Amino acid sequence: MTPEFADADLIGRLERTLVEWMPEFQSDLAWLVALDRGSEHKAGVDAAADWMLGKLRDLGCETATYPSDDYGMAVAGSLKGRGQGRALLVAHLDTVWPAETAAGWPLRIEGARAMGPGVVDNASGSLAGFYALKALQATGYDDFAEVTLLCNGDEEVGSPFSKEVIRALAQGRDAAFILEAPSNPDEIISQRAGLMYYDLRVSGKNAHAGVEPEKGHNAIEELCLKLNACREIGGESEVLTVSVSTIEGGRRPNIVPDYARAEIDVRVETVEEAELVDAHFRAVAERVWVAGTLATLHGGMSHPPMERGPQSPRLVETAQSIGSLLGVELKDTFCGGTSDGCYSAVAGTPTLCGLAPYGALYHTRDEYLDLSTVVPRTALIAGLAASCGQRSD
Ligand SMILES: [Zn+2]
Repeated sequence: MTPEFADADLIGRLERTLVEWMPEFQSDLAWLVALDRGSEHKAGVDAAADWMLGKLRDLGCETATYPSDDYGMAVAGSLKGRGQGRALLVAHLDTVWPAETAAGWPLRIEGARAMGPGVVDNASGSLAGFYALKALQATGYDDFAEVTLLCNGDEEVGSPFSKEVIRALAQGRDAAFILEAPSNPDEIISQRAGLMYYDLRVSGKNAHAGVEPEKGHNAIEELCLKLNACREIGGESEVLTVSVSTIEGGRRPNIVPDYARAEIDVRVETVEEAELVDAHFRAVAERVWVAGTLATLHGGMSHPPMERGPQSPRLVETAQSIGSLLGVELKDTFCGGTSDGCYSAVAGTPTLCGLAPYGALYHTRDEYLDLSTVVPRTALIAGLAASCGQRSD
C-alpha cells in the first residue's frame, strides 16, 4: 500500500530540527505555565495571546486578532507557501485554573514528565502548533498555500466566543488539525460525540402529604416519569447516551413537592440523531403524567458532533504513514468528549483531533506532559499541515 503522504526526507528534517529546539520549547513552556490563564481571567489569557502573537509575527506570519469583551482574545498566524492546500491548526491558551494559581505551581520537570497548570491542556498543544510552523519554515518546505495556527482563549468554557472564529477560519480549508492531547500516547481522534445539554423543570402544587395529599400535584413524581421517558429514545447509534446528571426538588418529607428540576447530558453521533433526541425530549416535556403539573425544557446542542466524513480515512492514513516514519504506530479512535474540532467539522472541514504531545490527568493538580512525545507529535502536526499541499480535490 502506498502511503498517502510520507515524505521521509521532510519528516526526518523536521524531527532533527525539533530535537535541537527542545530546550527552547521547554523555556517557552515554563513561561506560558507561569502565566495565570484561567478562562475567566481575561487579562491573563490576553497576555498569553499577546505573547503568542509576538512569536507568530517574529516568524513572519500574517497575523490576525479576535478580541472579545468577555474572554481572552483569539490570535491567528498564517505561514504562506507557494503551493496548494490550506490547513488550520487549533489550540487553546486558557486553562481551568483560577487566578493566583501559577505563582505557587511553576513548571517542574521530573524525568520525562513536565508538570504545571495547563501544561498539557493546552500549553504544549499551543507550542506544538507554533513549533510546527517554525519547523516547516526552517526546513524551507513551502509546497502548501497556507498553514494557519489559531490559539483561542475560551475553550475550557466551551468556546462561546471563539467557536464562530473557528468555524469561519475552517470554512473551505482542506483540513483542520486540533491540537488537544490524545487519551493515549499512540492515539489520534477522528470522531467525537456531540454534546447536548438540557434543563428540565416541573412545577406542581404543595399539599400536606398526610392530611390531603390528593390536593397536591407531585412535581418530583412527574419529573421521574419524564426522565424515564427521556431515556427511552431508540436508535441504532452506539454513541447515544442520556445521563441525568443533576436533580433537585421538594422541601420537606411531609409536603407534596411543587417543584423539581433535573439536568441531562446527552451524547450523540450525528446531527440527525441530535434532531431526533430534541424532538423526543420536547414531546416528553409536553406530555403530562401527573395531572396539574407543568414542565419547561431548555437546552439543545452545545457542541455539534465531530463526525467522520468521506475525507477522514485519507487523513487518518496520512497521519499513520507520517507516524510510522516517526516510529509511532498511531491508532485511530473515537472520543465521547468534545473539543474545538466539533466546530471545524461542522463547517464541513475534514478534522483530526488528539494530535498534540501526550499527557494526562488534566484538570487535576497531577496534570503532566510527557516530554518524550513533544518532538514526534510536533513533527506529526507539521507533516500533516504540509500534506494538505499534496491533495488535489
Ligand atoms: Zn481542558
